[in-house]
Amino acid sequence: MTTVNPRILPPTPSATNPPLLIRELLEGGVRMAGHNQIVYRDLSRHSYHRFQERVHQLAHLLTAQGVRAGDVVAVLDWDSPRYLEAFFAVPMLGAILHTVNVRLSSEQIHYTMEHAEDDFVLTHQDFVPQLEEHHGRLPRVRGYLLCRDEPADLETTLPLVGEYEAMLAKQPCHYDFPTFDENAIATLFYTTGTTGNPKGVYFSHRQLVLHTLAEASTLQAPGMELLNRDKVYMPITPMFHVHAWGVPYTATLLGATQVYPGRYEPEMLIKLLVSEKVDFSHCVPTLLGMVLNAEPVASGRIDLSGWKLLIGGSALTRSLARQAHELGIDTRTAYGMSETCPLLTAAILPREVEQADFETQLPWRCSTGLPIPLVHLQVVDEAGQPLPHDDESVGEVRVRAPWLTQAYYKETTRSEELWQDGWLHTGDVATINEHGCVQIRDRIKDVIKTGGEWVSSLELENLISQCPGVAEVAVIGMPDDKWGERPVALVVPRDLNAPPEADEIQVFLRQFVDQGQITRWALPARIRLVDEIPKTSVGKLDKKRIRQQV
Ligand code: AMP
Repeated sequence: MTTVNPRILPPTPSATNPPLLIRELLEGGVRMAGHNQIVYRDLSRHSYHRFQERVHQLAHLLTAQGVRAGDVVAVLDWDSPRYLEAFFAVPMLGAILHTVNVRLSSEQIHYTMEHAEDDFVLTHQDFVPQLEEHHGRLPRVRGYLLCRDEPADLETTLPLVGEYEAMLAKQPCHYDFPTFDENAIATLFYTTGTTGNPKGVYFSHRQLVLHTLAEASTLQAPGMELLNRDKVYMPITPMFHVHAWGVPYTATLLGATQVYPGRYEPEMLIKLLVSEKVDFSHCVPTLLGMVLNAEPVASGRIDLSGWKLLIGGSALTRSLARQAHELGIDTRTAYGMSETCPLLTAAILPREVEQADFETQLPWRCSTGLPIPLVHLQVVDEAGQPLPHDDESVGEVRVRAPWLTQAYYKETTRSEELWQDGWLHTGDVATINEHGCVQIRDRIKDVIKTGGEWVSSLELENLISQCPGVAEVAVIGMPDDKWGERPVALVVPRDLNAPPEADEIQVFLRQFVDQGQITRWALPARIRLVDEIPKTSVGKLDKKRIRQQV
């Protein structure tokens, strides 16, 4: 690398250079759209002005409970305006927000809370019984603040300090927030891998502000136009998972109307989509499938046309994008991971494709997309050499961006495995085409090696999902004495009473062999019809459990 000496001028003594702090995102949003609303299920709604006051009140409440800068405040809640208030109030105090993945096993939840050294906890009533079990083993926790939607009697051994709304109401509406270093840690959460304990990833104020700005520019890109002051936004990616992809921060900055659905229940989600006229959501493919297959939507009784979705966490299959399109729903892919805050790429289409018909757009909409501003993404071979942008050369994705976790929390060895040679290694394999558009082919660990050939489980899933009668599919490699590994597919039939025959699926796949899209080694050795496919805590195919099951 060449070193240069650009000119840096000293500031005049009276100049200041304000740090990038999360409070700026809130203040920007309130200025932009103070009267827009924050909605909670069919339970409550208030303006951005009131939202800002509530953030200040929560800061007073936490301070009165002894929370100080550097402390860790855990939240166990469904998606709610309370959670959004904690997204701001906790980091704005200089404390660290630990968003607890409430879908982990009880022991894993305890592990993450102990490892994070939580000092204070906000918990929804639903998680009180679990926390009662753990409290004796969480010696640092000073107190628990109860969150609930309706008044109800609660007997508990937890040392509750009170109820959220009742305590908030007693606090002053203005808090004099401190200014501090933009590199202060703002958030912390845990991601589960294929082995070992969950790993903590953490993000600073600076990282979250830069991620928010880049995400805002992406969500407003030509053709996307997903989020601005005039849009209604509802997350369907849990707030505990990578800050719901950071979109609540972005929606706040842009002043969009925000709808929080609480616990994800298909009926409530659909009701809110209709009653609040939601324009934009994001979720994993499984959740979109759940909404599209819910009776009122599938039967056409409820019209969701005009709804736009960013799909990530797993590949968007063409069949799902087509099914959505037939209902007037617009889908596109985004890609990232817990370690990357998460956004790395989004399916922004070339101008000529944006103007083309849906079938021409489809492969682009389902591709992993273009790296967003400030992201450097390379696909490299085993020696770390960048591969040509020919849509064929397959290698590992490595990235640089100003918002990548700088280490796993208190995990030296695993941190150095994540970061090598100054690049964050994603563990995903991909190709890049001549337009710079990325296509994730697989997780390195999920690639199937059969008879020396390399088979992408994602590609096979994409093809099988397009076979009539298939509702859901997962493909894994199973050990084979002769070939090393062979693909095995689990298929959930669309109609359990008239499932497709395994042979029909094989015949369907053979056309892609004949067209040269896949090799004959990719034809599954076995196709098993099942009622359900195991999913992870955030609704992705759980390949670890699928392998154990098969
Ligand atoms: P997580 O850290 O749980 O969010 O998982 C991140 C992983 O999900 C990535 O490393 C990818 O393997 C996968 N992933 C995320 N987005 C996509 C996408 N658009 N297409 C394919 N895989 C994806």
